[in-house]
Amino acid sequence: MKNLLFLLVLIPTASFAAEEKSELDIKGILQGLMPIYEDLHQNPELSFKEQKTAELFAAELKKSGFQTTTNFGGFGVVAILKNNSGPTVMLRTDLDALPITEETGLSFSSKQKQKSSQKSEVGVMHACGHDLHITNMIGVAKVLSQNKTRWHGTLIIIGQPAEEMGAGARLMLAAGLFKQFPKPDFALALHVESNESVGKVRLLSGPVTANVDTIDITMHGRGGHGANPHETIDPIPMTSELVLALQTLISREKDPSDPAVLTVGSFHSGSKHNIISSSAQLLLTVRSFSKETRAKILDGIRRKAKSIADSYQAPAPEVTITGEPVPSVVNDAKLVERLRPVFIKIVGEKNVLGGRPSMVGEDFSRYGLEGVPSLMFTLGTLSESRLEKYKKTGSIPSLHSSAYFPSAAESLPVGIALMAESAITLFNN
Ligand SMILES: [Zn+2]
Ligand SMILES: [Zn+2]
Repeated sequence: MKNLLFLLVLIPTASFAAEEKSELDIKGILQGLMPIYEDLHQNPELSFKEQKTAELFAAELKKSGFQTTTNFGGFGVVAILKNNSGPTVMLRTDLDALPITEETGLSFSSKQKQKSSQKSEVGVMHACGHDLHITNMIGVAKVLSQNKTRWHGTLIIIGQPAEEMGAGARLMLAAGLFKQFPKPDFALALHVESNESVGKVRLLSGPVTANVDTIDITMHGRGGHGANPHETIDPIPMTSELVLALQTLISREKDPSDPAVLTVGSFHSGSKHNIISSSAQLLLTVRSFSKETRAKILDGIRRKAKSIADSYQAPAPEVTITGEPVPSVVNDAKLVERLRPVFIKIVGEKNVLGGRPSMVGEDFSRYGLEGVPSLMFTLGTLSESRLEKYKKTGSIPSLHSSAYFPSAAESLPVGIALMAESAITLFNN
């Protein structure tokens, strides 16, 4: 690995220090980044509504000398910095926030409300840390633009909308991301982690997140009086049987060494004590890793629904995949091994965590599926003092919780160093 840039990382935690390896001062940049972070945190926007966030992001990248294209596949931003000939590296941040009312108690808490897809007004919050991802990327753009002597090639930074809906990557690709702009040789992204301390990073080879499928089931019966069930087909016992039968797809039908989960998140039927309703609705999420297990579970759901309806002499059920299926993120093994030494240099070997993939979904997978070797790593975001405090209370707020927020000032230098160092390594090899 030649020409590796070591960035100055000053982390205000006792357990982590990488100052001796550094050449460049991220601390100077950090002071300018914190107001941007607080602005983003205070002004989150829901998926498909990230207009102001995208404008801010594009404006900051322009200041760093990038050529920017906005409104690309929704409110997507594509920013390019060409620096002689060399590899093309794409770095991705997401832009959107969640329909959650913030309860962090931060002085710069979000008070924003937006109309959700259900048309009602909801509180909006960056509960998945995408505000930190955006700020981190603005920092990376600054560092790389200020150090053009250290790398050569084409740097593409994208601000991707609608990650939380699993749609943004598909929309940017459909708009011609890899046709209108150079197709990258590598793609990198990071995601915050809610229960690890600052300075810890997770670097996995192979699957990182799960395939996600969202399924609606309607079981049809025949309604009537609660006093006369023999004249009806009661959908409630029928659908209850289905709920239990669905779990046997996980426990009895799929290979136990290939993880998957099926959750019935909603079961709705009926309106009154003495009325047997005519139908019942289930809303499911299914998470898997392999194609085979995914297909097996989806087929099994249809089969179980139909056979249980048949056994009650009920009409055929409706089983529909709704929402956007999100494919599993799979980290390119060669890319992981190429960048592992960079991670070790920056945070130290013991802080580069392994572990198991997560059952959450992330549409960063779609860039990899286009044949671009890709890598997503996760970044610990809790200061030591906060981690200690949470441990005493027995619970740590998770991502998508109204109480989650990253320790931004501490996390950003690590995230910026890791992303910028990784990009430089890929440009120079
Ligand atoms: Zn999320
Ligand atoms: Zn997220």
